[in-house]
Amino acid sequence: MTARVLVVDDVPANVKLLEARLSAEYFEVVTAADGQRALDIAERGQCDIVLLDVMMPHMDGFEVCRRLKANPKTAQLPVIMITALDTPADRVAGLEAGADDFLTKPVNDLALITRVRSLSRLKMLTDELGARAATSTQMGLEAEDASFRRPGTILLVDDRASSRERIVAGLQRDHHVSVEADPQEALFKAAEGGFDMAIVSLELTGHDGLRLCSQLRSLDRTRMLPILVLVGPGEEARLMRALDLGVNDYLQRPIDKNEMLARVRTQIRRKRFSDRLRDSVQQTIEMAITDGLTGLHNRRYFERHLDTLVEQAADRGRPLSLLILDVDHFKAINDTLGHGAGDEVLTEFSRRLRGAVRGIDLACRYGGEEFVVAMPDTDPALAYLVGERLRLKIAGEPFAVGAGVEPVKVTVSIGVAALAGPEDTPKALIERADAALYQAKRAGRNRVAAAAA
Ligand code: GH3
Ligand code: MG
Ligand code: MG
Repeated sequence: MTARVLVVDDVPANVKLLEARLSAEYFEVVTAADGQRALDIAERGQCDIVLLDVMMPHMDGFEVCRRLKANPKTAQLPVIMITALDTPADRVAGLEAGADDFLTKPVNDLALITRVRSLSRLKMLTDELGARAATSTQMGLEAEDASFRRPGTILLVDDRASSRERIVAGLQRDHHVSVEADPQEALFKAAEGGFDMAIVSLELTGHDGLRLCSQLRSLDRTRMLPILVLVGPGEEARLMRALDLGVNDYLQRPIDKNEMLARVRTQIRRKRFSDRLRDSVQQTIEMAITDGLTGLHNRRYFERHLDTLVEQAADRGRPLSLLILDVDHFKAINDTLGHGAGDEVLTEFSRRLRGAVRGIDLACRYGGEEFVVAMPDTDPALAYLVGERLRLKIAGEPFAVGAGVEPVKVTVSIGVAALAGPEDTPKALIERADAALYQAKRAGRNRVAAAAA
């Protein structure tokens, strides 16, 4: 997805220049010559990120930024302020107005593209989370909440005492900073976790900061950790290498404190958004494959997975057996004790089922009061014994269904079938187990029946 960048500047030549540079990097560009027009475009949702000139007639950049951040419709929109080089106070004012980052005139190409990329990624994450929050409020997701603004925990890797002190002084009011001079130690620390981002100096004496960045990117435990590198003047080539390695952003020395605060804040927010998004994806996956009442895998998952198990068994010439279980006269439990008691029985049934099978066996809720267990490496004779053991586990002890209610006797009927040969299919296997189950029911219930081989 290409980000749409809104360029706001009252000088047409400046607009043209930025437009050309951004278009060359395949960003879509929208332009506005004054603050009011910019606010309109943003409000209509026609841009993903705003490049805002400070000096404009009628309404200056600070005011535009303040209004964007105050409007719930545009508050998530990242804003990059373009300030003049000789006015460091503008950055303080910009931060106070809510700006996410700064660029200095004349705008450096690399800085422009890096900032726009970094913030458009953040925007995509906030949009995605916002969309999910809208459709799945039950997950307790919010597009942005206070937790995203919490102080961050930062790992600073720099071996020059004076530089370290200055950076720590700049950050410690808002964040926790942990300092490390040795890159190897830093890598261990980072792998232990708990950091929101790393700041790595590329000017370490006797060490290669780029190597550390590359190691951080390749380790599983630190792959997602945002990295901001510190580069000296004239280090363009190393900076390019760092960005190629996947470093997220950079600061040029001498470090401007407000620039640093803005970039650190952006990286920390991005980390938190993507963590949250990953958690919610994980949760969505779990919801899609598990049954809410019993916590067992659901039928959809079972059918998918059975295909794989059948294929594997056929390829390896190993047996595979299937049990289908159906609670006996379950309707009567619902009818006499209520649906809630019925649910209790199903939950306890699942607990006993799970406790009776091996880890590699796949136990699923197949339907209302029907369950299946697929057992790799298990021949039908052994499967029959497992079924018998299960049957006794259910019938052996009545089920508690609530305080003050007599525990109910529950029995189950079980059909067993096994994979018959290379021509056999998952569907045929299920049908044979089902037919065996029907026999068990017909023969009087509370029993195990094996399918004809
Ligand atoms: P049989 O011995 O022949 O299997 O008789 P049965 O009563 O167990 O079978 P039947 O298929 O007639 O009834 C199953 C009942 O299970 C009907 C349905 O309302 C109930 N049921 C299905 N899903 C749930 C559930 O999630 N919770 C509860 N409490 N009941 C359920
Ligand atoms: Mg039943
Ligand atoms: Mg049934």
